[in-house]
Amino acid sequence: MIGVLALQGNFSSHIQILNKLGHDSKLVKCSKDLEGINGLIIPGGESTTITKLIKREDKFIKSIQLFSKKYPILGTCAGLILMSKNSFDDKVLNFGIINIESKRNAYGRQVYSFDTDLNLNYNSKNTSFIASFIRAPKISKVGRNVQVICNHDGIPVAVKQGMHFATTFHPELQNETLIHQLCFGDG
Ligand code: GLN
Repeated sequence: MIGVLALQGNFSSHIQILNKLGHDSKLVKCSKDLEGINGLIIPGGESTTITKLIKREDKFIKSIQLFSKKYPILGTCAGLILMSKNSFDDKVLNFGIINIESKRNAYGRQVYSFDTDLNLNYNSKNTSFIASFIRAPKISKVGRNVQVICNHDGIPVAVKQGMHFATTFHPELQNETLIHQLCFGDG
């Protein structure tokens, strides 16, 4: 059973991808909802808003950090920002689950959102797919133990650290199962 953090943002498309892969899923709105799941998705949305909503429960962030010691987490877009070690914004609480630094809205405003072909290089497999970048962040620094699995225009856009994955784009909006499958396997 995979949980999808469902405080704000685009969580329903992730549920559809999990269904497609044969995973049961569950909406996660508080730390208690982390019980009984063995993977978590932190979706896109607004990292500042998700931060505010997460902070409503004192121990929620700590619980997610503890969860990450045992189970895989996939963060997309705002999810990547939250999983970063630092995104240099006081309004965002960084969980420090992946050893990267990120910069919010680094491609500019909404009009600079785009879909593009990406090439993923992982486990000696090369796969191409379409991804949506929506007011996307950029990964500004890749720290130790982080593997870049996909670049766009020479900039890392998908990373892996241990069992965790994060992307600056939205794989789920193109009905793409690849990244979810890498993170959680088949259901
Ligand atoms: N711009 C958003 C933020 O800073 C992220 C956008 C997204 O998740 N599509 O949190």
